Amino acid sequence: MLNDNLWYPTDKIFINGQWKDCHSKNRLPIENPSNGEVIAEISDSCDIDIDEAVNSASNALNNSWGDLTASERGRLLLKLSELVRNRIDNLAIIESFDVGKPLKQAKSDALALARYFEFYGGASDKIMGETIPYLKDYTVYTLREPHGVTGHIIPWNYPMQIIGRTLGASLAMGNACVLKPSEEACLTALAIGQLANEAGFPEGSINIVTGLGEKSGSSLIKHPDINHISFTGSVEIGKKVQTEAAKNLIPVTLELGGKSPQIVFEDANLEKALPFLINAGIQNAGQTCSASSRILVSKKIYPELIEKMSKLYCKLKVAQAIDDKDLGPVISSRQREIITNYLKLSKDLECISEGKFETNLPEKGYYVLPKLFGNVKYSHRLAQEEIFGPVQVVIPFEDEEDAVKIANSTKYGLVASIWTLDGARQMRVAKAIKSGQVFINNYGAGGGVELPFGGKGYSGHGREKGFEALYGFSTLKTVAALHE
Ligand code: NAD
Repeated sequence: MLNDNLWYPTDKIFINGQWKDCHSKNRLPIENPSNGEVIAEISDSCDIDIDEAVNSASNALNNSWGDLTASERGRLLLKLSELVRNRIDNLAIIESFDVGKPLKQAKSDALALARYFEFYGGASDKIMGETIPYLKDYTVYTLREPHGVTGHIIPWNYPMQIIGRTLGASLAMGNACVLKPSEEACLTALAIGQLANEAGFPEGSINIVTGLGEKSGSSLIKHPDINHISFTGSVEIGKKVQTEAAKNLIPVTLELGGKSPQIVFEDANLEKALPFLINAGIQNAGQTCSASSRILVSKKIYPELIEKMSKLYCKLKVAQAIDDKDLGPVISSRQREIITNYLKLSKDLECISEGKFETNLPEKGYYVLPKLFGNVKYSHRLAQEEIFGPVQVVIPFEDEEDAVKIANSTKYGLVASIWTLDGARQMRVAKAIKSGQVFINNYGAGGGVELPFGGKGYSGHGREKGFEALYGFSTLKTVAALHE
């Protein structure tokens, strides 16, 4: 990809520090969702390519990468962070064309990528074992060791953020990585290869292979020399990944979907809550795992909240990503069809408000209007299933007990937020909610790279982000020494 400040080939794969042609010779088109134009072609890696990538990672562990100290690894990550920071604008434009994200959102993702590498660069030499008091003649201590070769399979919706959190933590712990980004958006993932070389990462410590999930992704998880899989994606594929990983008995982290609620009690500061209630549902055109697709509201303030949300909703603008309005297109015609099919189920529902299309939208772009539905029963499919589009439902509740019951009524459990000024209620509800993160009087906490993230139930298991990820990307050895 040609860019003033950043050059790398998008039709090759990155193995052992070099750009290579894939053995299959097949190419896959990458579309700009804003206008349907093909902007690049990527390699469709086959078993041989995956094998080479895994071998290259294994060799790196036995050579220069494996020889580095924790602080040397940390310095490389800090250098990588600096290189990303110098290319924020370049990376944001690429992501915006590739994913259809409004430019501002793409920029904030590029910043998050830099921040993840910075955080994990600083953390790599601060993870320690412990000594354990034991029998009189023993000294016992623990060592934190890398798994070995880690496979990273990621989706198309937030490539940069997810690369930062998953590769950053894994490299910090001394694993060698093979990254398989989504075939629908992977151009910034490939840029990491170029930046890793510039930063001076040893050959083979980072490998990047593109291709179809059912082929290259599946080949990666089946490879006998993979020691850990970090998968971010859908529930359907997550189940397959876990099943395949079980055959080789390797650990998996699953970061899957969600149907996350915001619970608005009658004493909530509505003016403060409103932007969060809406933005968390429409950001990235609703294609966010932690999107707040359910708004649970006390019946006592339902009319007031609906009126206020509607007034803001009808001002939302859908535009080409580069025009940087509230929403860009969704990723593909397939995704638009999934959303449209869900909307067909809304015939019995009241659409309270919806956004507007800008007038200059290219005919071939994949645009969807954001829609807000009111008075929705919690058992309705639109209130139970992940749509992955800009669709929010408002569900009235009677009291605290009812709110918790509704919040916990889906198979998912990723994040939730509680809007109330009552401190005791904040604590009670935060404890009762089944999810990996709970926000009180905010949503998302600014995305904090420091904050452990992950799900319960159908939202997955294991944690990424924060220090917690470093434990997930390592394994513990106990050493018990008997004194002579
Ligand atoms: P997906 O499951 O279709 O694809 C994810 C990745 O898996 C892609 O790289 C794909 O190529 C690969 N893949 C597909 N089939 C495979 C197979 N058989 N074996 C191995 N790999 C395979 O998901 P998507 O459509 O790219 O992303 C959307 C989903 O991701 C949503 O459900 C969303 O909630 C979830 N997501 C979760 C998080 C989180 O942190 N919890 C973050 C972002 C997205």
